[in-house]
Amino acid sequence: MPAVDGIGGPLAATLSRPERIFPALTAAQIARIAPHGRHRAITAGEVLVEVGQQPVPFFVVLSGEIEILRPSAATEAVMITQRASQFTGEGTMLTGRRALTRIRAVEDGAVIEVDRERLIGLIQTDAELSAIFMRAFILRRVELIAGGYGDVVLIGSMHCAGTLRVKEFLTRNGHPFHYIDLDRDADAQDLLDRFHVTAADVPVLICRGDAVLRNPGNQQIADCLGFNAGIDRTHVRDLVIVGAGPAGLAAAVYGASEGLDVLVLESNLPGGQAGSSSRIENYLGFPTGISGLDLTGRAYAQVQKFGAQVMVAKGAAKLACAPPLYAVHLEDGGRIEARALIIASGAQYRKPALANLSQFEGAGIYYAASRMESQLCAGEEVAIVGGGNSAGQAAVFLAETARHVHLLVRKDGLAETMSRYLVRRIEEHPAITLRTRTELVALDGDRHLEHVQWRESGTGVIETHGIRHLFLMTGAVPNTAWLDGCVALDERGFIKTGPDLSPDDLTTARWPLTRSPYLLETNRPGVFAVGDVRCGNIKRVASAVGEGSIAVAFVHQVLRH
Ligand SMILES: Cc1cc2nc3c(=O)[nH]c(=O)nc-3n(C[C@H](O)[C@H](O)[C@H](O)COP(=O)(O)OP(=O)(O)OC[C@H]3O[C@@H](n4cnc5c(N)ncnc54)[C@H](O)[C@@H]3O)c2cc1C
Repeated sequence: MPAVDGIGGPLAATLSRPERIFPALTAAQIARIAPHGRHRAITAGEVLVEVGQQPVPFFVVLSGEIEILRPSAATEAVMITQRASQFTGEGTMLTGRRALTRIRAVEDGAVIEVDRERLIGLIQTDAELSAIFMRAFILRRVELIAGGYGDVVLIGSMHCAGTLRVKEFLTRNGHPFHYIDLDRDADAQDLLDRFHVTAADVPVLICRGDAVLRNPGNQQIADCLGFNAGIDRTHVRDLVIVGAGPAGLAAAVYGASEGLDVLVLESNLPGGQAGSSSRIENYLGFPTGISGLDLTGRAYAQVQKFGAQVMVAKGAAKLACAPPLYAVHLEDGGRIEARALIIASGAQYRKPALANLSQFEGAGIYYAASRMESQLCAGEEVAIVGGGNSAGQAAVFLAETARHVHLLVRKDGLAETMSRYLVRRIEEHPAITLRTRTELVALDGDRHLEHVQWRESGTGVIETHGIRHLFLMTGAVPNTAWLDGCVALDERGFIKTGPDLSPDDLTTARWPLTRSPYLLETNRPGVFAVGDVRCGNIKRVASAVGEGSIAVAFVHQVLRH
């Protein structure tokens, strides 16, 4: 039953502006698509795309009607129907991953069928079609996520670190899932008990309707869902980028859009640290701020639009330094060769040396303050450790929902470490108490953090507070252990580049060229370092993005010679 002109199915009825998500193409637009595909007939009942299929072709309906079917329902459920001038596809067209829905012809008719590769080519060259397709694909994926449509069911508890991790992994990968909360659904708990699923097995993930994974690692989930299945590891890439934070994603956008064959390796989640930021207010062009998830989610889509490939949950374990080719050894034992390399592996927050800290990670201890965490501590007292901008932002953000926020810093004040606008907001906020010269000394609780102790260093007085939510934002350690001495590092382990490299650094690496290293180049020709991992970098999203894009200009120079 059509809900609006030409669009039918239950999903259409729930959408606010279905004509934006399921637009009709004009005759002129269809004529521009036609040379990129093949005209073919369809017959009623014919399955055009099967769930799990990879790669997924794209269809423009010329006549007749097709339906998009929900995959995991016990009985088949039609989500949407499409008629003449409308087209198929959602986020999968950009990612190259497996199909989440079945597409079937309802009536006899005709379509234009376009391969994914050719569609990506068309998106890169036709600005008008690119805008229509990108908007439709992204909004359709948003609807799938919002409706929990997809091939994954996650059963877990919001008080379990593993559940938060898996939810974040699926969310940052833009993968829809249906979540069953054990704390609210007693029947689900009974079911798990009957199958002898213990607390240590939670969360349970039912993947693609059959595989049951107990407390799976991110790599296991990526393998089961085929996130990296379409990526060829054998051919030598122009450019391999290690790390998919803002620096790596920016390098990938510029590299791929300028014609380089780019592969990004990400050991964990696309988006990096920035992806976990609740609100980035100082990034150019977003006067009202933007969440890290939104910003990096858009960047991730842009990377895929330009045809760069991203391997997730597969980190670089070692770099083999043998110019002119570099080989990155992967955590799973494979290796990828490249003519140029950009290291954008970022840095990680420091953790206070408290013996039972890991016991409460995800169960009261957090390293990011996004909307998800703010919901967990609504109406409660929270403590934040750290005096930098991220701690300040978290304090202001959490104070919107928490009963009270205690900000603990070792120094006498915030002036040296935090932007002035944030210091002022903290000082003026009635729900934030700044506790200077204060150090965390103990944590206590059972399955969840219940009490926090801190000491005021001047008086030596230890206070105990009934605080169940603690945010640690205490500086960064670079992710450079995997480089295994291949490039020069400073005394804190950050990568030295360009003018920071000493003559000794060049001699040690037997620098073979008459020119000096470029601005962001390490002491290995063609190996660049950008973003938080680079010595002297200003730890901001804008710096990371700027450095990632600048490095690509130097990559071109290296590849030309
Ligand atoms: C909570 C929070 C709030 C922040 N708010 C702001 C803000 O408002 N404004 C601002 O300008 N900055 C902010 N920052 C800082 C900003 O996020 C960082 O400066 C920025 O993310 C750095 O980008 P990057 O790409 O260099 O590194 P990262 O974002 O750290 O990304 C590095 C990526 O590399 C991956 N990686 C690591 N090792 C490997 C390996 N061996 N193989 C493959 N991949 C690997 C990591 O998993 C990660 O995804 C904030 C940071 C945090 C944590």
